[in-house]
Amino acid sequence: MIDSLTKKKLLIQGQWVETQEYKSLISPYSGEIIGEIPVASHEDLELAIQSAYKAKNIMAKMPAHQRAMILENLVTLLTERAEEASEIIAVEAAKPIGAARIEVTRTIQTYKFAAEEAKRINGETISLDAAPGGEGRLAYTIHEPIGVVGAITPFNFPMNLVAHKLGPAIASGNTIVLKPASQTPLSAFFIGELLQKAGLPDGALNIITGSGSVIGDKIVTDKRINMITFTGSPTVGINIRNKAGLKRVTLELGSNSAAIIDKGVDINKIIQRCVSGAFSFQGQVCISLQRIYVHEDEYEAFLSKFVTETKKLKLGDPRDSSTDVSALIHPSETERVIGWIQEAKSLGAKVVTGGLVEGGVLQPTVLVEVNPELKVSCQEVFGPVVIIDKFSSIDQAIDKVNDSRFGLQAGVYTGNIHTALDAVDKLHVGGVMINDIPTFRVDQMPYGGVKESGMGREGIKYAIEEMTELKLVVLNRN
Ligand code: NAP
Repeated sequence: MIDSLTKKKLLIQGQWVETQEYKSLISPYSGEIIGEIPVASHEDLELAIQSAYKAKNIMAKMPAHQRAMILENLVTLLTERAEEASEIIAVEAAKPIGAARIEVTRTIQTYKFAAEEAKRINGETISLDAAPGGEGRLAYTIHEPIGVVGAITPFNFPMNLVAHKLGPAIASGNTIVLKPASQTPLSAFFIGELLQKAGLPDGALNIITGSGSVIGDKIVTDKRINMITFTGSPTVGINIRNKAGLKRVTLELGSNSAAIIDKGVDINKIIQRCVSGAFSFQGQVCISLQRIYVHEDEYEAFLSKFVTETKKLKLGDPRDSSTDVSALIHPSETERVIGWIQEAKSLGAKVVTGGLVEGGVLQPTVLVEVNPELKVSCQEVFGPVVIIDKFSSIDQAIDKVNDSRFGLQAGVYTGNIHTALDAVDKLHVGGVMINDIPTFRVDQMPYGGVKESGMGREGIKYAIEEMTELKLVVLNRN
């Protein structure tokens, strides 16, 4: 059973502290109250920042093997309590329990990679004598912790996306002020408890909950915070970038990811993967498959099989192991997505399946004949909606994929190596998945986008580069 019905506390300077104001946390599927969550005051936030600032030197001086050990301890503790962690995600985010279990398994992986990377944060030697005047000097670089990291996380992967901030920050000797999404604070508090047990020094992690615009603003602008690592919507991310001044900023933002299905691809082999890419966690995944472009020769077969598989998905309670699709994060989100589907219908699109709400759950929806200027195509739907369209040449398909404000990942199914490599060259995205959906991610790979999908990369090794300052040392032997 989840120990979440109690009043939660903020984590500041290694202590769980109450605040004056609380807000009920409502489960998106059942509508039940599942916790009372603190709304941090400005004073609480000030104490959290002070605490992270004070702990900076302790973490910076901690040897790598000790930082790695704390992360390894966390891996052990989380592995022991994996089912409890999955239930927390299922209840607070309405993530079907099967997907929640996968998230916990991935979170464990993320912290494992962080423990390993903590031991290999190496610089390089530089050949200064390659330049006239550089003779007789030895030069090398070191990576120093950046200091205090302000981490702001979204609701959709409440445990693993927190891990993508805490893992590399701890591995590289930083301290953290974490502000999790208001709808999913329980996952963050749970990890905070485990990290204390794992031996993380007091003050190295502070968890503050409350409104994003109030708390987030202070975290972004406070001079004692050296870096902001943000995952969330483009609107909030761009606002953060504009306010952060010279602070280091990593932004992992949204997308309307696409896949291309070339002529001659074995449709039967890929159909289930495409359906799961479109509808996993109700499409609330930053690399959810939102647009599918199929070669005209395969289009009818692909569409018919895709719809058949989509109709098999089971809607319902996220705690039920057989559920594939549950409620969106908030009823207002269901309303928004329905509005976008209705707009598309009124402007000529056809709903092949779905489009209705069943027991509070929006049906997985397939749209065709969608004008690319409609919201369901050119904006991030972040719901269980996919559009399927046809193309006659690969260049036309690539143009369709690139016709987007976003550029996170793209998928290309093809048996032709020339087509594959051509697509790699021409697609304007952070990652190209050949013979896979854009939704593929494992946690050590470099991950991030171009255009309005963000800046900087996550994936532990790459996040550590963002969370450290490169220092050059030159020894003059002349
Ligand atoms: P969101 O509304 O942007 O919220 C993200 C976080 O920002 C939350 O903690 C939120 O707090 C906080 N926030 C809100 N307003 C803020 C402000 N003015 N200043 C600072 N922080 C503020 O995003 P979401 O709805 O949780 O998540 C969905 C979005 O995340 C989608 O666009 C998705 O594509 C993107 N995403 C991207 C990736 C990636 O790696 N590229 C991964 C996952 C999700 P409150 O919850 O309190 O409002």
